[in-house]
Amino acid sequence: RIISAATTTQQEETFNLSLRPESLHDYVGQPKLVEKLSITLAAVKQRKEPMEHVLLHGPPGLGKTTLAHIIANEMDTHVTVTAGPALTKPGDLVGILTKLQPHDVLFVDEIHRLQISLEEYLYSAMEDFKIDVQIDQGMHAKTITLPIKPFTLIGATTRAGMISGPMRSRFGITHNLEFYSESDLLAILTRSARLMNLIPSNSDLESIGDTSNLSSDILNALCAIASRSRGTPRIANRLLRRVRDFTQVKAGGELTPAVVDAALSLEGIDSLGIDDLDRKYMQVIADVYDGGPVGLEAIAATLGEDAGTLEEVVEPYLLQIGFLARTRKGRQLTTAAAQHLGLRISTSQNP
Ligand code: ATP
Repeated sequence: RIISAATTTQQEETFNLSLRPESLHDYVGQPKLVEKLSITLAAVKQRKEPMEHVLLHGPPGLGKTTLAHIIANEMDTHVTVTAGPALTKPGDLVGILTKLQPHDVLFVDEIHRLQISLEEYLYSAMEDFKIDVQIDQGMHAKTITLPIKPFTLIGATTRAGMISGPMRSRFGITHNLEFYSESDLLAILTRSARLMNLIPSNSDLESIGDTSNLSSDILNALCAIASRSRGTPRIANRLLRRVRDFTQVKAGGELTPAVVDAALSLEGIDSLGIDDLDRKYMQVIADVYDGGPVGLEAIAATLGEDAGTLEEVVEPYLLQIGFLARTRKGRQLTTAAAQHLGLRISTSQNP
């Protein structure tokens, strides 16, 4: 699903890597977080301390991994990337922790999926920079304490509610990443399009995301991509790749709004960034449940999709654009959604 930020291919990861901003200065949007981080980074660098532990939550593709790399760059150290489900036994975590160098960053994606027993190792690692490891079994069992170099843990989660209280309290900075505005996405797309040589570059790298000297065709084309990107940089860059191929093969290299329309219609993506799965989801609520309210499990069963996937990758954007309401009785389609899709629902009950 091109519009889903939840999964990426290896090829896309490599592509994303080439577009990843390397400093806070190039990181677009999220102004409150950027300000908090730049103050803390400046302070800890002056004191020659590691950066505080940071917990980032929010939907996938909003730049959590990117931020971990930026923090390591700003601290002039390295980042080790892992994920909650990849750590299955204490040895996995101990191996990683003991290899960290002073002030390194350990990025743990999907930290809510870390096993409880491993969470407890992290507590003393985060607080006291040491871990107690049990060696041998039974009568010969003994515990040794291993020191760890002062490091920074950056935890990322799409499910903030699933982080335990003790875990949460050990992070110095906790921040919810928000969906990006269209103007922020436009700056990200302009920067990416320049790095991909899709549009003329400007000589000044400092203002690579600056839109002021773009032709109106290019500006409108990039705006058309931004408005379909569901507030998510990863999706914006993915759509830009599709548009780049289409522009090259079908439009003689000329990027215009009409070319964007044609390229993205081919992918089933409409002017608001709604795709086939969103349409099917909303259609089920309208046709089978008369607009709702209906429980998520019932929608998932009717669609033959996993409820967790729907909750993580379909609903956040529909809620954000006011197409869906979550009530105590279940999900409800709004009249704005019905109008956009030309669906019939009983308007008396729906917001
Ligand atoms: P998450 O960890 O939240 O799922 P991510 O950090 O893995 O997201 P990326 O895959 O790095 O997201 O994001 C996709 C692309 O979007 C990256 O190549 C990066 O260039 C770009 N990007 C993400 N956030 C920003 C931002 N705030 N400013 C500029 N570019 C960004």
